[in-house]
Amino acid sequence: MAYSLHVAHLYGDLLNTYGDIGNILVMKYYAKKINVNLTSELVSLGQPFEPQKYDFAFFGGGQDYEQMIVSKDIQAKKDDLISFIEDGGPVLAICGGYQLLGEYYIGADGQRINGIHALDHHTESQDNNRFIGDITIHNEQLDETYIGFENHNGMTYLGKGEQPLGKVVFGHGNNGSDRSEGAIYKNTYCSYFHGPILARNHNLAKHLLLIALKRKFPDVDFTIPADID
Ligand code: GLN
Repeated sequence: MAYSLHVAHLYGDLLNTYGDIGNILVMKYYAKKINVNLTSELVSLGQPFEPQKYDFAFFGGGQDYEQMIVSKDIQAKKDDLISFIEDGGPVLAICGGYQLLGEYYIGADGQRINGIHALDHHTESQDNNRFIGDITIHNEQLDETYIGFENHNGMTYLGKGEQPLGKVVFGHGNNGSDRSEGAIYKNTYCSYFHGPILARNHNLAKHLLLIALKRKFPDVDFTIPADID
């Protein structure tokens, strides 16, 4: 294969709710269809995140307990993750991973779980409630509809420079009140959608793959034919 992409799977051994790793498998599937070799590597506790080694980073969701462990470890990777994100490195972060890219998450027991504040959102806790169920959103800019399944205690409020991934059509989304779901900042995409999100939303999978390819190979005109599904 002429081209290759290397993905960092952040804390995939701790945060992998509802098979979030499927997102990497879907990207690998579409990459192969257009003759691109996509490989991935677990980056977990005590391991450095070296921004120049990766073309994409994926960060899944999980329980508060695992998030607390990750919260402590990820502070050592904070500067490198921020420089990757600021440099336009593409990232997909789901649920717990999404919360940890923000400033903080107040867990279900009221404990503060610090994020890395790479993105400006913060996440509060609900009183004895979780947002659970199917969800549909619409992204106006791309005119695309995404479907998924959400299960979270956290209520996320977006901050400076962030756009929602979409507007809630059905379900709860970021916080159950402002009809936003997920976040986009530069090439970092965040969402509460499990499913995994890319297995259920091929248009988004193709979109992210093309972002990574165009960033790494700016002179090559990649397209993913519409009949590839
Ligand atoms: N533990 C977090 C919450 O309950 C994230 C959940 C998840 O990743 N599904 O909000």
